[in-house]
Amino acid sequence: MTELSIGGISIAPGERRVIDVPVAPMYTHDDLSITVQVVRGKRPGPTLFISAAIHGDEINGVEIIRRVLQQKTLKNLRGTLLAIPIVNVYGFLNHTRYLPDGRDLNRSFPGSAKGSLTGRVAHTFVQEIVSKCSHGIDLHTGSRHRSNFPQIRADLDDPQARTMTEAFGVPLAIDAKIRDGSLRACAGDAGIPVLLYEAGEALRFEEVYIRAGVKGIINVMRSIGMLPKTRSKRTPPSPVISDQTSWVRAPESGILRTFVPLGGKVVTGQTIAMVADPLGTMETAILAPNDGMVIGRTNLPLVYEGDATFHIAQYGRKVAAVERHVERFHEEHLPDVDIDDSESMVDAPIT
Ligand SMILES: [Zn+2]
Repeated sequence: MTELSIGGISIAPGERRVIDVPVAPMYTHDDLSITVQVVRGKRPGPTLFISAAIHGDEINGVEIIRRVLQQKTLKNLRGTLLAIPIVNVYGFLNHTRYLPDGRDLNRSFPGSAKGSLTGRVAHTFVQEIVSKCSHGIDLHTGSRHRSNFPQIRADLDDPQARTMTEAFGVPLAIDAKIRDGSLRACAGDAGIPVLLYEAGEALRFEEVYIRAGVKGIINVMRSIGMLPKTRSKRTPPSPVISDQTSWVRAPESGILRTFVPLGGKVVTGQTIAMVADPLGTMETAILAPNDGMVIGRTNLPLVYEGDATFHIAQYGRKVAAVERHVERFHEEHLPDVDIDDSESMVDAPIT
């Protein structure tokens, strides 16, 4: 693919430029656009999109993309990188997951040029970005007050998606069913493998998860031939895959105390949280319904009965391997507090 044109602007091999793709203006009459940074290598190769804030309040990925674009190794790029840090600009402005018409962009693909506002944004994104790509990585976080342990979700029956998942380098992967209307479903139908990186909580930055996301994207780019292979012998171990995950719901309404961290192991029957009334006269334990790892949890200690509290993935006998991976993951990505990064604020860790 030597011809590449986005938003009516063509980009030649070896060029790097920022393109604003117009979407529906604001009703204040201000223009609004989705900003794409296009980095084209001189040599041919895959075309990869990396996108964030499809859910407008999921912002870890915005910082991940900013850091990927600072990587010096991009001068070795083969093929083309399309970086879209903020897809749902409307939601991003309002700190919300949705668009102003109340719809969820990630349930509205492929959209339509004559549909709702959300459908039109989906359509524009597919036409201008996704349809020009051979691979994709879409960055998400948990929803408000909910945090996800870094994980890749992908259709692991697809050999390309599996290779990318193995290269990314996070400890956990979920063989996730495709949801109708999702970007992953829409791209998958067109034969474009897309990974979803889920890490952290909406409206927050988490340094370890951001670092892991940057590294993961670079690892995938090496594995699909966009960047030279690393000389380091320490390639990350393949993630442990689960296809069985479930939420544990609060049995009562009340004040929640949790006892297991994100990425922690649980065994069947273990007390993982207590729900009490504010006076402490009533108290109910929440028990782990099965063995597994906590891959998501609520950070809000106030629950109604039926609210989701812990998201547990089952790994059968592989759970010990997951535990080792998680430990190694933290060691690898925890910022070294003794290093004074103040000279380069580009990479300064967020605390
Ligand atoms: Zn999301």
